[in-house]
Amino acid sequence: MSRFWSQVVRDLTPYVPGEQPKITNLIKLNTNENPFPPSPKVLAAIQAELGDDAARLRLYPDPNADLLKAAIAKHHGVTSQQIFVGNGSDEVLAHVFMALLKHEAPILFPDITYSFYPVYCGLYDVDYIQVPLAEDFTINPDDYLGQMWNGEQCGGIIFPNPNAPTGRLLPLAAIEKILKANPEAVVVVDEAYVDFGGETAIKLVDRYDNLLVVHTLSKSRSLAGMRVGFAVGHPALIEALERVKNSFNSYPLDRLAIVGAVAAMEDEAYFAQCCQSVIATRDTLTADLTKLGFEVLPSAANFIFARHPQYDAAELAKALRERNIIVRHFKLPRIDQFLRITVGTDGECKALTDALSQITA
Ligand SMILES: *Cc1c(COP(=O)(O)O)cnc(C)c1O
Repeated sequence: MSRFWSQVVRDLTPYVPGEQPKITNLIKLNTNENPFPPSPKVLAAIQAELGDDAARLRLYPDPNADLLKAAIAKHHGVTSQQIFVGNGSDEVLAHVFMALLKHEAPILFPDITYSFYPVYCGLYDVDYIQVPLAEDFTINPDDYLGQMWNGEQCGGIIFPNPNAPTGRLLPLAAIEKILKANPEAVVVVDEAYVDFGGETAIKLVDRYDNLLVVHTLSKSRSLAGMRVGFAVGHPALIEALERVKNSFNSYPLDRLAIVGAVAAMEDEAYFAQCCQSVIATRDTLTADLTKLGFEVLPSAANFIFARHPQYDAAELAKALRERNIIVRHFKLPRIDQFLRITVGTDGECKALTDALSQITA
């Protein structure tokens, strides 16, 4: 606190990202990064862009990242006018809260969800209502069907699908039900993990002008370190995001990020293979932890959410940490007995289950 701080800054409650420790030889299963490197074509594209003398870095990048929009449009069967790109999907989401979620009526999101949403609400002064997940930690679509609060309809809806940190998936039919019941509100589906077993709502954007789907290259394309995310929706929604972006930073993606992201989007075979590997390892990990007595929620993501009926989650996380394995524990109501464990390589997951079998012996 300082007398130089504005009132806005005094009132902020910033997001706390998962730890990025400086120690080496740690088994890092706490921030849902991909255990595989990005496609080799990403590095080749970056090297080609740099050329021999990197002289091109003198020049500003394309403010519209047209090449990247074209690559994303091709992959998802939409037009470039339906795409917005940003410096990680967190930046895309920030612009969404500013531009498309109403500041006059409360928006809705689940009580257990991505903890950045309430932070953006604080930053942009957006009111919100947290809708409790069902007992089995699924989103009940009926809780989002055009209810009224103090005579007002909601100002927007946002949830991840699969949800984080539960990993539970909502079928597309349920999302369609929510879209139909809220024609006056933007419904944002944050699909950070959809490539690990979900069905994308992008196939619905031509039919619903109130749908915005947000993706990231951080998880399924192994590019968390490069910061690229995008949104797909009706051109009018995209235009709102462009207006905010062009009032904030004209060049959210640098030259290397643009060419690297294009290469990542184009390497379909490598992408499919990485996702398949993660899914196979997730299934093995789920079976192994179940054998150790854990209850593991069904996951469609690159992490699992699990609890042990006899062992305190914070104690387990501490014991793992002493063995150089880090997982995520949230000290929050309803989920403080769960651990969120990123699906690593087969070897990393084996080390985790070996450690947990010692700890729970
Ligand atoms: C990881 C994650 C993001 C942010 O991804 P970046 O593109 O790395 O900013 C957004 N939403 C959810 C639900 C996530 O888990």
